[in-house]
Amino acid sequence: MKLVTYEQGAEQKIGAVVGDHVVDLATASGRELPRTMLEFIGRGEEALETARQVLRGSPQSVPLAEVRLLAPIPRPPRNVMCVGWNYAEHFEEGQGRRGPGGSDEMPEYPTFFTKLPTSIIGPGEGVQFDARISTKLDWEVELAVIIGRSGRDIQPEQAMEHVFGYTIANDVSVRDVQRRHGNQWFRGKSMDTHCPLGPWIVTADELSDPQQLHLSCRVNGELKQDASTEYMVFQIPRLIQELSLGTTLQPGDVVLTGTPSGVGFARTPPEYLKPGDVMELEIEGIGKLANPVVAYPG
Ligand code: MG
Repeated sequence: MKLVTYEQGAEQKIGAVVGDHVVDLATASGRELPRTMLEFIGRGEEALETARQVLRGSPQSVPLAEVRLLAPIPRPPRNVMCVGWNYAEHFEEGQGRRGPGGSDEMPEYPTFFTKLPTSIIGPGEGVQFDARISTKLDWEVELAVIIGRSGRDIQPEQAMEHVFGYTIANDVSVRDVQRRHGNQWFRGKSMDTHCPLGPWIVTADELSDPQQLHLSCRVNGELKQDASTEYMVFQIPRLIQELSLGTTLQPGDVVLTGTPSGVGFARTPPEYLKPGDVMELEIEGIGKLANPVVAYPG
């Protein structure tokens, strides 16, 4: 199932995408299903089964073109959890560019950082460029994992049972701010609008192998990143194991799994985004997420 959060008129709803239409799940289920994605995810398999039954009944739907898609989880209750340097080629392209304290040895444990929930935007929304802060705005296509079942100290063998589904994320980064705070990347990664997410959550049962997905990023139509999730250094079960160590993962937590090579700062010469540019991210089995860069109106 493809699950969306969307606006129709003044109302925010969650729906299931069927072809180029969307079914309002709360209405079609006679209010049995909730109105927010977080509540839906929190209800787990029971909500999924009800949604499947609703869809079998050929419910009313509206064309996707008539609604506005938001990020599938517009405002998660906790920071988005992210891993840095999770594709070997991306680690290598950063050699000598990591700044003070950055090692050129591939680490034994993943490097984690977080993005504020307020950095999340939906498909088509503008990513802010503020020249007063920085002109080193960069793209990063990433597979985002949505946690379904809560758990702590999760072992790799059980980790995938805790995954609700997947979506596409753009870990937009402001490179000079990212580097200026040593190895604490939070500041350069958390600015408003710098976490496009969407267009929908593909439930885990729909992707037979999330470690075999082609992923790419185009800027103004030009291919910049082109890889497969099979090249993750720390694969999804290991990331869930590490993140859940002594920390209870919760339904609706969002985990970004790292970006492959081809980001702007590591290109020769370096390339950065400017207002008017359009980033188009694509992940096999999920879809496409496009966002323009817009000048901050300050
Ligand atoms: Mg990243």
